[in-house]
Formats: sequence, structure tokens, C-alpha cells
Amino acid sequence: MNLSTFIMAFVVLTLLMSITYFYMFAKSRERFIQFWALSWLAYSGSLFLLILSYNFGSEVPLELRKLLDLLNITFLLFGAYSFMHIRIPSYWSRFALYLFIWVLIGIYYNFDVLSVYLPVFAYQIIATSVLCTIVFKYWNVPFPEKGLSITIFMIWGFGKAIISIYEAYFYDISSLYQFEIIFSNILNFCIFVIYLYRTKDSMVFTERFYRIIAENATDVIFYYELLPNPSFRYITPSVEKVTGYTPEDFYSNPTFYRELAVPEEIDALSAFFNGNKQGEEQKVFKIQSKDGALIWIEINGDVLYEGGAAAAVKGIMRDITKVKEDEETLLSSKRSRDLLLSYVSHELKTPVTAILGYINGLKDGTFKSEEETNAALDVIFTKSLVLQRLIQDLVQLSKLEAKQFSFEMTQISALELCENLISAHTLDIQASGFKLETSVDTTLLDKVELIVDTKRMEQVTSNIIFNALKYSKKNGIIKITCFLDRHFKNLVVEIADDGPGIPPEDLPYIFERFYRGSVPALQNEDLGSGLGLTLSKEIVQAFNGDIWVQNAKGGGSIFTFTLPVFKDFLAY
Ligand code: ADP
Repeated sequence: MNLSTFIMAFVVLTLLMSITYFYMFAKSRERFIQFWALSWLAYSGSLFLLILSYNFGSEVPLELRKLLDLLNITFLLFGAYSFMHIRIPSYWSRFALYLFIWVLIGIYYNFDVLSVYLPVFAYQIIATSVLCTIVFKYWNVPFPEKGLSITIFMIWGFGKAIISIYEAYFYDISSLYQFEIIFSNILNFCIFVIYLYRTKDSMVFTERFYRIIAENATDVIFYYELLPNPSFRYITPSVEKVTGYTPEDFYSNPTFYRELAVPEEIDALSAFFNGNKQGEEQKVFKIQSKDGALIWIEINGDVLYEGGAAAAVKGIMRDITKVKEDEETLLSSKRSRDLLLSYVSHELKTPVTAILGYINGLKDGTFKSEEETNAALDVIFTKSLVLQRLIQDLVQLSKLEAKQFSFEMTQISALELCENLISAHTLDIQASGFKLETSVDTTLLDKVELIVDTKRMEQVTSNIIFNALKYSKKNGIIKITCFLDRHFKNLVVEIADDGPGIPPEDLPYIFERFYRGSVPALQNEDLGSGLGLTLSKEIVQAFNGDIWVQNAKGGGSIFTFTLPVFKDFLAY
């Protein structure tokens, strides 16, 4: 094969390479590929000029070749800058342009060969050195690859520069051209490998990057394949945090989502995972986690279609239980606030209207006799007491609920507390015509102590006893029993009456604020506010105790409250 056929083969090869780079650039829009394409385009032009000079025995194409070689190395340098994400210094373009003009002038005015070749030689040496420095400093690969690449760059760049000087002295250097062409193509190949390396690197990086994001996300990302067979193709490990089930549970059972759905949601969730239109509408589902807790999840998903059929469903699942709960709390607190306001205004309106009515009667002389006037004053007094009590109760309740009530806590023996509570009410009970029976486990109660606010506990007991007196017939029996529970952890106080008891339909509500049952009060009817038991419950709970009511078998009701024991001498 003669030299011109050899070179022609490489012209085509380099041109093809350049076209490949242009194509790759059109696809990826990465600037360094564009520079590489331009660089190899210039080189294939340069080789073509070499054939011309070889065939026509002229020096002009060889000199013109210097222009294309200049472009070749400049674009290669620019490619290196942008490959490493470094801004290309503007002086390079200026240098290259001046040199380009200088060579043109040199050819035109037929300057001495060396005065054209030498500046190009110097430019090639400098550009190659910078190129190698860039690769050395910024290319992040292990040393063998880096060393090899730099060596090839150096052999090519310096070699080419030296060959051009040789060319000035010896016209026929065909074997050196062969060397240059082969090396240029090795370099070209080397650059291509560098590119592939980086693409692989960036793919690995991208994959790792997305994997890290997916696996550390608190939301659950999933890909559910419908065709050819329904199955979970991918679900992030976060699913275990949200549902308690592992990704393997989902991978091994294509309809595992059905196990999670609460019965009323199974159809909707199935519709969603089957890619039905109906499934796309519902976004929030109630599911049951592995530990049995009910949780709310919000799914934002898309159906992927293939030839008109739903082929997969992908999406993100988010646990919105907290948001839902907050929403519910907000709603119920708004509801209870509205309820409170309507009750308060109703409860206040009744006594206030009565008071105003009687005061008006007094003012305009409706009540003539002294008895009538006294009776009116009595009503005003009683209604004012109701008002006063209602207001006091409301203030106390709102403070208790807001945990702003200040208690005066004291350490007291359970026995002493029980005796105090009983003695504080003995006279009231007897004066109301009731019989008091007590049963106190003195031996055990003496051995434990409690920490409570005794005044507030008196309030609780008087609420219960006052109700017992209010709702039972006179001459009834009130029985107070105090003992320790069987684990010796709580003081238990039971207050029983032999009244009508509490109708079963009232039982669940009597501790609710303003709830007044259907049992008619037999005494002191007007003094009830429906807040007494609510307050009692709040107070007992503030001391970590509990309170409840049940109906006694033989009739009447039994109110029971417990208070936790603080110091337990039984253990010693
Ligand atoms: P009130 O001011 O109406 O007594 P409470 O909160 O103290 O409000 O009690 C709520 C309701 O519980 C009462 O309206 C009454 O129907 C019922 N109740 C409370 N104690 C007794 C009892 N010992 N016997 C029968 N019903 C009772």
C-alpha cells in the first residue's frame, strides 16, 4: 500500500470519527464533544492536504496544513478544558487567531519556512504541556490510566511539533508521517476511551445518587408492574418504617397491598394498583400496619400505559397519620369549643333571665307584700349562687384542661386522707337526713402514703356525695368504703348510694361537661351545672388516678375513684 492510500484511509477514518462526535454532540449537547468533533475534522482536513502535497510535490499544502494542525490542537485543548469543567481562558483564542493570521501572511508573502513553522512549533509545545497539566491536575482516575493518557498526549503533541520542524529541513519524511498518523489515531482512540470511562462513571454516580436518595427517603417509592404479570418490581426499604412490613413481603406477594387495606378500602386500593381510572381519584387510604395500628397514607401515583393497556403503576406513598390526627384534633376541639359556647350561653341565660325578671318585678312594684318581695329576693339569691358556681366551675375546668391549675400538693397517709374526707362530709350527710356507713381498712391504709391536694380531693368527694344526696330519696344510706387494691398500688374509695342509680343510656356520658342525666334531682335541683363530675374526673386524673361509676346490683350507684400510692411501707 502506498503512502497516499494509507493516508486516505486515515482521512476517511478521522472524518468518520469526527462525524460520530458531531452526532454524539447533537444528542448530548456536551460542549467538549463538539470541540473533539471540530478537532478531528481539522485533522482529517490536514491529512487531506498532506496527500495533496505528496501527490503534487508542492510545499503550499504543507504550509496550509499548519493552519489546520493549529486548529486541531486548539480544539483539543478547548475540549480538555470543558471536559474538566474549567473555563477556557480567552487568551488561547487570541493566541490561536494571531498565529493563524501570521501563518496566512507567511504563506502569502512566502516567508522563510522556519519563521512560519517555529511559532506553530512553540504553540504546539505549550498547548500540549497545558493539555497534559490539565489531565494531570483535574482528571480523577487511578494513576496507571492517567499516566498512560499523559504519555500518549505528550508523544503525540511533542512528536507532531518536532516532525513539523523536521519537515522544514527534509522534504521527504514519509515514515515520520506514518508515525504521526498512527499516533494521532491512538490519541483519538484514547480520548474516546476517556469519554466512555466518564460516561460509565457518571452512570454509576447517577445510579448511586438516586439509590441513596430513594433508600434514605422517608416516603415510600414503588414501581408496580402489571404486565406481563402483576408484581412489585421495586419498593424502597422505608416501607418497613411506614407499614412494619419489609420490601420482601411485597416482592413475594403481588397483591400484598390487599393485606394492608382495611376492609372498606380493599376495593379502592386494588383499583389503584390495577391502574383503573377510579383508582386514580382516591389519594388517601386507611391501612393497617403490622402492629395493628391504623395509619393514613397518601399515594401520588401514575399509571404507565403500553399500547393502550395499563402496564405499570409507579408512585410515592406518604404516611400522613400525624397530619390526619392533627386535623381531627383541630376539628374536634373546634366542635367542642362550639359546643361549650352554646352550653355556656344557654346555662348562663337561664339564671340571668330569671334574675332580671325578678329584679324588674321588684322595681315596678309587682311584688306587693313583704312575703312576695322576700320570695323574689330568695330566687334572685339562689340563681346568683347558681351563676357563681357555674362561673367558678368553668374557670376551674378551663384551668385544669389547660394544665394551668396550681395544686397544693401534700404528702399524707392514705388513712388520714380517708378520715378527713369522711369527717368533712359526715355532718352534711346526716343533716340531709341520710345515714352514713363507712368501712375503712385502717391497718393497710395506715402503711401507705399519697401525694395529693387534699382540698381538691375534698371537692371531688363532695361532688359525688352532693349528687348522691341530690338524686336519692331522704333517709337513704350513703356508704363510703376505703381500701387498697389487691396489688397495693392504689387507694380505692367507693361512694355508694341507694338512690335510683344511673340509667344505662346516661352511663357513658355522665363525666362529660354539661351532661345532665335523665334522673330528676330530688333536692337542690337548681344548683346543678353538669360540670361537677367533669371537674372531679379532671382533678383525679391530675393526680394520675382514675374515676368511674357503676350501678349497684341492689339499686343505687357506686362512684369509685383511685389514687396511686406514693410511699409504700408494706414492702418493709
Ligand atoms: P349535675 O350538676 O347535673 O349533678 P354532675 O356532673 O355532677 O352534674 O352529674 C352529671 C349527671 O350524672 C347528673 O345530671 C345525674 O343525671 C347523674 N348523676 C350523678 N350522680 C348521680 C347519682 N348519685 N345518682 C343518680 N344520677 C347521678
